Amino acid sequence: MFSEQTLKRPLSTVGKTTKHDARRRNLQAALQSVYREGTTTRAHIARLTGLTRAAVSDLIAQLVQAGLIREVGPGVSSGGKPPTLLTLNPGGRDIVAIDLSRQPFAGALVDLEGRMHHRTWGRKAGLRGRAAIREVFQLVGSLVEAASAPVLGVGIGTPGIVDLGGAVVEASNLRWHGVPLQDELGARFALPIRVANDAHAAALAEFGSRPGFNLVVVKVGVGIGAGIVVNGHLYRGDRPGAGEIGHIRVVNDDGILCTCGNVGCLETVASVPSILRRAASASGARAPDDAEVAWDAGKLSRLLGREALQEALAEAGRSLGTVLAHLVAILDIHQIVIAMELEGAEQDLLDAVRAEVDARVLPSLASVVEFSSTTHGSDLVLVGAAALVLSEELGVVWG
Ligand SMILES: [Zn+2]
Repeated sequence: MFSEQTLKRPLSTVGKTTKHDARRRNLQAALQSVYREGTTTRAHIARLTGLTRAAVSDLIAQLVQAGLIREVGPGVSSGGKPPTLLTLNPGGRDIVAIDLSRQPFAGALVDLEGRMHHRTWGRKAGLRGRAAIREVFQLVGSLVEAASAPVLGVGIGTPGIVDLGGAVVEASNLRWHGVPLQDELGARFALPIRVANDAHAAALAEFGSRPGFNLVVVKVGVGIGAGIVVNGHLYRGDRPGAGEIGHIRVVNDDGILCTCGNVGCLETVASVPSILRRAASASGARAPDDAEVAWDAGKLSRLLGREALQEALAEAGRSLGTVLAHLVAILDIHQIVIAMELEGAEQDLLDAVRAEVDARVLPSLASVVEFSSTTHGSDLVLVGAAALVLSEELGVVWG
């Protein structure tokens, strides 16, 4: 009998590998083969994984019984009996994905292939402290209720530093300090809960679209953070607070007070609200509300003037480029993805970042760096939160 626990049990990192661990690894390898190939056969999985035909048949029987893959009829015969084709059963599980970096918070149900089939939003923008935590509970509850398949787990991308136990150590924009989000949600919902920094989740989503590349993903919204993937793994750091670039001081004199309590942080000049404030101040118009849901460069150009907006974006790009120049020089990573929550403004920002990095880094290092915008649009963190659950619970990576 298949036990889902066999598939989900965490691998021991120390000590002897048990039979149970080996079985779980084989189940994950068989499932990953189906993900990679789309439609395949038992014989092909045996070739890909190096397992015997008998072992693969046994593993496939368990995965079919668990509803994760299905048989879809006969394939082409190579002489004898035609093989049975296997494919993923995308509707076999639902993943609850939540993005706390958007206002109001965003949530979705995601199938096993990464397709979103139900979306929902928090009731109110701009919530902080306990009110924001209550909103997360409400959002998760409504999505669990709306699920049409067994829920594999809940993935949450949140601003701030998140420890390995899923507690939010510090998220100044939400006024959260030491919030044990993973434990609190786990106590309420009897489901696996995975909480990660929003930029880390974003990096997982981009890695799924660009497998095999080292990459840095920079999220520019109300806050600014980076997710770093090296050698196929998300680099989270010791705390783990890797990529908290938003609070690097970039303004030496006359800096603005930041939400973290420091002065002149990158976020005070390159976050979306700070770009809007700068453009508004140059044009003499009123700055749009921070909590406005849909920021759009076209609408803002009409409101604040194209020139004022472009100059604010160029200034933000110069500051962001200054910080990214250090990352390029230290890590020598060639793929940098910038995800900006200001539709239509990404190219202006990318151009300014590129120029600044070129001016600050050795030409042989800077010239090979590709700057691009995300292919996931505003769904980036939701896709990453779902990818986190998929990799932690089933050992599978999209891509
Ligand atoms: Zn700061």
